[in-house]
Amino acid sequence: MNMFDLKGKVAVITGGNGGIGLGMARGIASCGASIVIAGRDEQKAATALQALHDMGADASFIVADVTKKADCLALIASAARVHGRVDILVNNAGTSVRKMPQDLSEDEWHHVLDTNLTSAFFCSQAAYPEMVKAGGGKMINIGSMMSLFGAPYATAYASSKGGIVQMTRAMATAWAKDNIQVNAVLPGWIDTDLTKRARQQVQGLHDSVEKRTPHGRWGTADDMAGVAAFLASPASDFITGTAIPVDGGFSIAM
Ligand code: NDP
Repeated sequence: MNMFDLKGKVAVITGGNGGIGLGMARGIASCGASIVIAGRDEQKAATALQALHDMGADASFIVADVTKKADCLALIASAARVHGRVDILVNNAGTSVRKMPQDLSEDEWHHVLDTNLTSAFFCSQAAYPEMVKAGGGKMINIGSMMSLFGAPYATAYASSKGGIVQMTRAMATAWAKDNIQVNAVLPGWIDTDLTKRARQQVQGLHDSVEKRTPHGRWGTADDMAGVAAFLASPASDFITGTAIPVDGGFSIAM
């Protein structure tokens, strides 16, 4: 038995058109699943699809703005219509507004919470009946080191990522009876478009991350492939409600 065999399974990955989402899509694709990536930027998606097709994956793109409930519902419905099933959902789409709490506007607060947390709720809700029909499923929610720690510029972001962990636990308890495992991944500092902006905005961030991380480097999107394959596959069938750091040791170092 191959514990990582995902042939015949269908995975939907929000924000799978770049960064960590694409790294995870590659991990899940390498186990044989069909991949549906979702996002707004079609040009980025074309490059991501090329990379997935180059590795022999069955992959497609659906345009979706996950801050809109209707798009979340349409995304899952369309993946289910085209492929006949949805077995794996990675709630990865995310954004950040780095400001002191007293400077965050109402719109900025809602934008971050809607993108990072509410979208995961609506996509999971939409995917649930599809997974029940399929006899089970895997949901993987992307948290952050900000699920564990605070930072002066991260009030909205940390609130959303703390919420991801608690939402994961609640859904894991609700849907275990349906053979659905719900887990969170907490990436450390990973080199992506999101953190390129962070490095421009937060002075000294690049070096302080390198210094604190026992592995002595920033992570890459490919570092996220293995945990995605594991949490999407039968190898993790008795693991649910966890929040797994993938951080080169950042969260256990003084
Ligand atoms: P990127 O900016 O590279 O990727 C974010 C992805 O989310 C993009 O593909 C983007 O696609 C998509 N996205 C953003 N807003 C929306 C939206 N409204 N609708 C649909 N898709 C959307 O960043 P990362 O890869 O770094 O981030 C991925 C996840 O990992 C996020 O949840 C982030 O918070 C989390 N994370 C990242 C860390 C890091 O160090 N990089 C650390 C911890 C957590 P498009 O532009 O096409 O809409």
